[in-house]
Formats: sequence, C-alpha cells, structure tokens
Amino acid sequence: MQPEAPRLLALFGGTFDPVHLGHLRVAWEAAEFLDAEVRLMPANVPPHRPQPQASAAQRLAMLRAALRGQDRLLLDDRELRREGPSYTVDTLTDLREEIGATRPVVLLVGADAWSGLPGWHRWQDLFGLAHIGVLTRAGHEPREPAELQRQVAARRTGTVADLADSAAGRVIDIRVSALEISATQVRNELAAGRQPRYLVSDALLAEPSLLSAYAAPGSQRD
Ligand code: ATP
Repeated sequence: MQPEAPRLLALFGGTFDPVHLGHLRVAWEAAEFLDAEVRLMPANVPPHRPQPQASAAQRLAMLRAALRGQDRLLLDDRELRREGPSYTVDTLTDLREEIGATRPVVLLVGADAWSGLPGWHRWQDLFGLAHIGVLTRAGHEPREPAELQRQVAARRTGTVADLADSAAGRVIDIRVSALEISATQVRNELAAGRQPRYLVSDALLAEPSLLSAYAAPGSQRD
C-alpha cells in the first residue's frame, strides 16, 4: 500500500493590522480549495516602511482570538520570532528546515504581490521551495510582466492534485470571493469611534483590549 501523501501546507502572509474577515474568508477558501492546512503568518515590517499601528504582540493576540474555535487555519509566527524583516525566500528556507524537503508547500499571494514578484529578493528561488497559489478576486485580475510569464508558463496548472505530486514549483490560480474589506477601513472605523462589526471577527469585538491600538483618541478614558 502507498503511504498516505502528506497534506498540503499553505502559507498566507500579511501585516494583519488587524486581521479582518477578508483575510479569514480568503484563507478559508484556499484551505477548502487546496484541502490544505493554511497558516496565517504575520510579517515583521521593515523599519523604513510605515509601521503597523498595533505591535507585533497585539497583532498576534488578534490573530489568536480570530482563529480560535476552528482548526483549519493556524498561526505561524516564525517571521516575528526572527530579528528584523524577512525575505520570503529566507522564510521558506526556514520552514523547509522544520518540515523537510518533501512536503508540498503552497505560498499564497494576492494578485498585486504576484504582479510584483520579479522585484522580490531571489524570486526565482521561490519556485524551488514552494508552489505558488495566486489568490484571484473578480475585478482584481493579476497583470503578468513578461519575465514572470516566461518563468511560469511551464509551471502553471489548474489541477490541485498536481501540487501533491511534488514539493514545490507549480503555480495555480485560486479564485476567491471579493470581499471589499481592508485593514485600513477597519482602522478608520475605529479611529472615528465606530464599531467595525461585520468587518472583523466577533471575537475581536468581544474583547475590547484587542482593538485598543486603533481606538479614537480619548475614547478609552472611562
Ligand atoms: P492595509 O489596508 O493595511 O493595506 P490589508 O487589508 O491589505 O491591509 P494585509 O495584511 O496587508 O491587509 O494583507 C495581507 C494579504 O491579504 C495580502 O496578500 C492582501 O492582498 C490580502 N487581502 C487583504 N484584504 C483582502 C480581502 N478583502 N480579500 C482578499 N485578500 C485580501
């Protein structure tokens, strides 16, 4: 009898400042589509970029609360455990040291990130470390620069089963719901003293301290 193939492991990175229902829904749909364990992975933000409003510890606490009660979506804090910002190629190398070379890994990237992939550090090495799942929302179809098209033409597949055949190297489009929610909108709602209900998980609203990093000035006096 053939040994059972290891489950796909998918990584979904972001700032998550804060995590919102757009992130969670997309991660969930990717988990269902790929039949994968999906890990949400908050990023360390480089010092020269605008800093998240919430600290790393607060972003982690919000993710933990939002993910509680289900076991399909998990948290991966490896980028926060390493000093400084991480290149994705280093993050995937780190993950490979942990899980070995054979388990299929899918790096989930949004359409915007996908179009900009040729600007990433050692981007061509990514294909030796993971498959890539391009999260495509109606109305946000990715542009593909010529050098990216050349690199992925032979890698593309429409079949999830192909991803289980190798540890890395394929590219698959994943159609996901277009929920027009952004972390910016959530922060703006809170800064204006309004509740971001139905934009974030109820678990974040249930524990007011979780969203306190975004509170309107003076709103926490009583
Ligand atoms: P901000 O408004 O602060 O720029 P954001 O809402 O885009 O933040 P990020 O943490 O930067 O959140 O996003 C992480 C990943 O989630 C990115 O790949 C981004 O494309 C994707 N993403 C963000 N919002 C949505 C959404 N509503 N639907 C699908 N994907 C999303």
